[in-house]
Amino acid sequence: MPHRFPALIAAPAAGQQSLWLTNARLFDGTGGPIREDAAVLVDGGCIRRIGDAGDPCPEGARIIDLARRVLMPGLIDAHTHASGEVPAVAKGAEAPLPGTAAHFLQAELRGYLRLGVTTIRVCGSQGLMPQEARQAMRYGAFRGPRLLTCAKIISATAPGGRFYGDMYREADGPDDMRRAVREQVRAGADFIKVMTTGARSNELEDPEPLQLTDGELAAVVEEAHRLGYRVCAHAEGLDGCEAAIRHGVDTIEHGMYLHHRPDLLAAMAAGGQVLVPTLSGYYWMAGLGEVIDPAGAQARPDMPPMLAELAVHNLMEGAGTMRAASQAGVRIALGSDTNLAAGLEAQRMVHHGLDPAETLIAATRTAAEALGLADELGTIAEGKLADLLVVDDDPLTDIGVLADPARIHLVLQLGVPVAGALVPP
Ligand SMILES: [Zn+2]
Repeated sequence: MPHRFPALIAAPAAGQQSLWLTNARLFDGTGGPIREDAAVLVDGGCIRRIGDAGDPCPEGARIIDLARRVLMPGLIDAHTHASGEVPAVAKGAEAPLPGTAAHFLQAELRGYLRLGVTTIRVCGSQGLMPQEARQAMRYGAFRGPRLLTCAKIISATAPGGRFYGDMYREADGPDDMRRAVREQVRAGADFIKVMTTGARSNELEDPEPLQLTDGELAAVVEEAHRLGYRVCAHAEGLDGCEAAIRHGVDTIEHGMYLHHRPDLLAAMAAGGQVLVPTLSGYYWMAGLGEVIDPAGAQARPDMPPMLAELAVHNLMEGAGTMRAASQAGVRIALGSDTNLAAGLEAQRMVHHGLDPAETLIAATRTAAEALGLADELGTIAEGKLADLLVVDDDPLTDIGVLADPARIHLVLQLGVPVAGALVPP
């Protein structure tokens, strides 16, 4: 029995006007080819009917002629942090005030819609920031993507607890782990995130070993699943990956060395566990900015050299694992691990060898499955929520269209036009 999703409960009002989106080239996310000359009826925030461009416009609906543009599900970023990062201020300037970050988070959330991202899964943020932003969106303060949060990340007592502050809930021993899970549910979590290994973004943590005991990890997974919540594991080293896979964690984040263990990839494929490769996180730590092809690119890392070098190594490992996972039949979901970078992540996934169609599926259908929202999101099918994206060029031949706001024609959220060239600013 799945739990209630706070992210769905917090949905803003659905569109009142029926829309007939016609003359579309339809990429429905189910894995089939593009359907030419399609039309889609949107009503009451849902997809009501999929028809042909030759069909008459249903009574009462407003026609939107897409002039053979590609209509696809809204993008889902299955791993972001919604950090609301305040830029560094100059020496001597007033230090940022405690509430300033929330305004930057709002700006960031608005940005997602302009890039066609209609749902994000926040895998760690400070304090209650995601829940507060979600409440503001629910009651109409601004429009942003549907937001799933893990609330705080559950970790054994570790350096990360000091580095990342209010993003972590440190816990030790199975009972405390169980309590930590319940606390996240209490705080409005949509899923549970646990650190099975250290994080490559701080100099005091290693990717090895498994960072908590078997009994502690079992307690987290059992309690979350007992309550109907999915579990997402930060897993870098192979010990952490192995334990997460064995305990039935639902999504493995990073997992960059998994290509060295085909047996673990086979276990993931058999168990339906999803890999979220997060290539853009390595690009960021390596100081590669918005580069797609890292070969010969000028890097400007702002991390200590040891971590920047590790990031370059991890990028190659992670890309190799993404390809091996695809070959092994592991489901892959797109997660950028950075802000506003789903389109960039898609370009990087294609650059590193994932088929464009598979990449689009990773950003739509499989991402929805990873979130536990496959009945609501991720494909264009009757009865699904009308979170839709129309782009000027075919992403199967030009994946860069997903990272170019100038070529985003229309973004619908629950049937409401919220962004794109067709929507006045
Ligand atoms: Zn992350």
